Amino acid sequence: MATGEKLGVYICSGCDIGGAVDCEKIVADVEKEFNPAVCKINNWVCNEKFVEQIKNEIKEKDLDRVVIAACSPRFLSDLFNFGKVVVERVNLREQVAWTHKPMDENTQELALDYVKMGILKALNSQYPEPLVLDINSTILVVGGGITGLTSALACANSGYKVILVEKESELGGFYKKLHKIAPQKYPYLLLEPNTIDETISKVETHPNIQVLKNCVIQKISGQPGMFDVDASVNGNLIQFQVGAIIQATGWKPYDATKLSHLGYGKFSNVLTNIEFEELVRDNKVAEKFNGKPIQSIVFVQCAGSRDKDHLPYCSSYCCSASLKQALYVRELYPNAKIYIIYKDIRTPGNYEIFYKRVQSEDNIFLTKGEITNLSGNGNGKIDLEIENTLLAPKIKIQADLVVLATGMVPSTFVNVEDLAEQAATTADGKKVAAGAEVGAKILNLTYRQGTDLPTLKYGFPDSHYICFPYETRRTGIYAAGTVRAPMDGVSCKNDSYGAALKAIQVIENVKLGRAVHPRSGDTSYPDFFLQRCTQCKRCTEECPFGTLDEDDKGTPKPNPNRCRRCGICMGACPERIISFKNYSPQIISSMIKSLEIPESEEEKPRILAFLCENDAYPSLDVVARKKIQYSPYIRIIPVRCLGSVNIIWIADALSMGYDGIILIGCKYGEDYQCHFIRGSELANKRMENVQEKLKQLVLEPERVEFHTLSIDEFERIPEIFNQFAETIEKLGPNPYKDM
Ligand code: SF4
Ligand code: SF4
Repeated sequence: MATGEKLGVYICSGCDIGGAVDCEKIVADVEKEFNPAVCKINNWVCNEKFVEQIKNEIKEKDLDRVVIAACSPRFLSDLFNFGKVVVERVNLREQVAWTHKPMDENTQELALDYVKMGILKALNSQYPEPLVLDINSTILVVGGGITGLTSALACANSGYKVILVEKESELGGFYKKLHKIAPQKYPYLLLEPNTIDETISKVETHPNIQVLKNCVIQKISGQPGMFDVDASVNGNLIQFQVGAIIQATGWKPYDATKLSHLGYGKFSNVLTNIEFEELVRDNKVAEKFNGKPIQSIVFVQCAGSRDKDHLPYCSSYCCSASLKQALYVRELYPNAKIYIIYKDIRTPGNYEIFYKRVQSEDNIFLTKGEITNLSGNGNGKIDLEIENTLLAPKIKIQADLVVLATGMVPSTFVNVEDLAEQAATTADGKKVAAGAEVGAKILNLTYRQGTDLPTLKYGFPDSHYICFPYETRRTGIYAAGTVRAPMDGVSCKNDSYGAALKAIQVIENVKLGRAVHPRSGDTSYPDFFLQRCTQCKRCTEECPFGTLDEDDKGTPKPNPNRCRRCGICMGACPERIISFKNYSPQIISSMIKSLEIPESEEEKPRILAFLCENDAYPSLDVVARKKIQYSPYIRIIPVRCLGSVNIIWIADALSMGYDGIILIGCKYGEDYQCHFIRGSELANKRMENVQEKLKQLVLEPERVEFHTLSIDEFERIPEIFNQFAETIEKLGPNPYKDM
């Protein structure tokens, strides 16, 4: 541990801090205990002059660590960035002055404890020098549909080299099948021509874009900035390196053969919406009906969609697609009766205007309803019975043609049944657990955790649906368009720009050795002291981002550019050999141990709170702005993710005499909000070991509590704190504190 020789401590007495605590006393206590090179108070630490003074003192006194005891570290981080100097922020404003009784003994103790913890953290930390590797800035786009094409152009127009691979012999994907496009421009009433050929031509002639058709990816290894790709073009192997990857491999229509109850496969005049689109595009509708005009056509919405036995979700594009196709029929056969039978019409955004326009067309009838019977009537027509309609309890329609609006299935989706065989026969002969990404075999990553982007249960490669919709669980690889979520062409184009920006961001960040979301700009990365590794594989299995591969013995092989710096591996490692320069089991232990625990008779319990920096900690800043008070016995330690909490901290704290420990992180489960995917879930699992520890220490299980919340539930935090403080009061002091 460094000593106070090169330490500067700056305490702000502004923003109510000076009115809540005796800052002079803190200076005296700090000087006595740490003997820092500088320790001073200013009533406006963030003013330019004072910041300049800090900078001068850093130079003059050769300070390498600075503690700023002022406002929340979530504010003014750029102002208090002094280059290659460890900076530790102590939150005296939000966590002391604004939330506790002013000039009270407990508040004074709280402030001093936080300052001491901050100093200990600074003294035990090193400046995290970025790891700068030689990187490649080319972007690989996998998939040549509208999303891939738009992404490629977005990257190329921003000055990046792009390699676009398409497994088919031509570009365009499903979008190329579209005869016309639903309205994209004001007044959102008219169908628009499909201009995909112009987009293809821009891509094929762009000097920054190399197009590889008939190309499939055989293998991708490496990490952001240095992905090595083996691809097969017309059966010939080619190898290249890229810095980031956009996966725009699109969708496939839901398998209509599973919709026999809607006549698909039984009757030649029951088609999917894609088949009908192609007929219109190729001008073959008349041919299909032997030149006879269509008199009646039924569009069946949600064919298999929003149905627990088929596709439980809404694909969001099929309603506007049927409205568009209804207009094709109006144009081809003005006298035809056109029926659209829906569960609900879902026309997001400006498509609502288009919906109203179609609704007002002659001969187009829309009604809610359920198809209860569909049969052939022997003369080539289809009889449909529809119940629960808006027109009558039951209606019957005779149709020349039925069009099923089938939904979107992402190209990454693999049926578990289809997968069973593949799961047993991976390339290296190992049996791997079944999972959609294992069987997808699109990117063929050589990652220890699987060959493709991890997906949720419907096959969409999700990361964080609220905060980072464009991220995936593989750093540097971004899913865009219909492979990411069901969407229409306009959304695909928007998504393409999002993914292009993410790809560019990752390249520019890894060039500087910095992390991407959610710890953007962080230059720390985990160090593994592998001499003491027992090959338990917890880190390789629990890293949510597949950062770690393994050697033959099972020793982790880090790929630092894949790392998001969450510290989950650090929390998992039973040997405590994973650490960051400014965040480690040892650093946090030193903070925990820095506090004096009052004796039992003083009746001042001490509660340690580990708060996730992503939602829980910022929530507490909101609590402070609202000046809501809570127990002064809580000592908060912010953590990168609850998953980074190593249970040794809890065990140490309990053995030292802390009366209770509380952990607050993000929600986990199906609609998880954990910024590191599984961090809070893993932390909760580790609570079993904590309970074991409590048993060993013969302590009550209620001394450790675990909570999750989202950022808008900030008001729960003071309630949780106060209730826990009451629980601890009832339990009485931790018997270890007097030992
Ligand atoms: S810090 Fe997080 S992302 Fe990095 S290796 Fe550890 S678990 Fe993986
Ligand atoms: S968790 Fe620790 S001991 Fe286990 S494999 Fe990883 S580094 Fe080695």
